[in-house]
Amino acid sequence: MPAIKALSLDLDDTLWPIWPIIERAETALHEFLLVHAPATAAQFPIPAMRHVREQIAQAHPELAHDFTAQRKLSLQHAFRLSGESEALVDPAFDAFFRARNDVTLYEDCLPALERLAARFPLIALTNGNADLQRTGIGHFFLGCVSARDIGHAKPHAPIFEATRRRLDLDAAQILHVGDDPWLDVQGAHGAGFRSAWINRTEAVWPADIAAAHVTVTDLTQLADWLEENAA
Ligand SMILES: [Mg+2]
Repeated sequence: MPAIKALSLDLDDTLWPIWPIIERAETALHEFLLVHAPATAAQFPIPAMRHVREQIAQAHPELAHDFTAQRKLSLQHAFRLSGESEALVDPAFDAFFRARNDVTLYEDCLPALERLAARFPLIALTNGNADLQRTGIGHFFLGCVSARDIGHAKPHAPIFEATRRRLDLDAAQILHVGDDPWLDVQGAHGAGFRSAWINRTEAVWPADIAAAHVTVTDLTQLADWLEENAA
């Protein structure tokens, strides 16, 4: 096995829990609509807006890798149905997106990122649409490879290959770290990366896919493991 030379890190549910953030962002969007688009707010309370977004996602499989485009199209659709101005799409999205990047990190995240970044180049590798600079932890990372920019999402190889090229390393020299067995671990293996599964929830590993190279419960354990095993 070649030595590990860099890490790629998933963001949502690896560095921060995503659902509380999405709920806060949906609330921020709704509050924006109450002020600036009251007919839309009345016609599309949060569950209804969620439903619109699900319908848009189903109707536009070509946007499966682009949550920003899905969200903006959902807003456009809602404004059309309520008869309010589509010029509100961008400012409404901004209200959502500000809250979406106001992340609450897992407790282990900051100290572990400091340890990891001191030893390895780190790159974010995400299917989500977080803006890493706006989350406040961008300085730990060389950059962010997102499904939105690449046009392909995890677990597919092109997003891993784009990450590998950015790091200018062999795939086997990169350890991909993430919470999702399929998107992160199976995807990493498909592209020749090593893998670390962050299992914060005592989940059971799915029997039908190959195990990660290392399994840890949080990023502190990952940093410990790398200190012992990646000299
Ligand atoms: Mg994740």
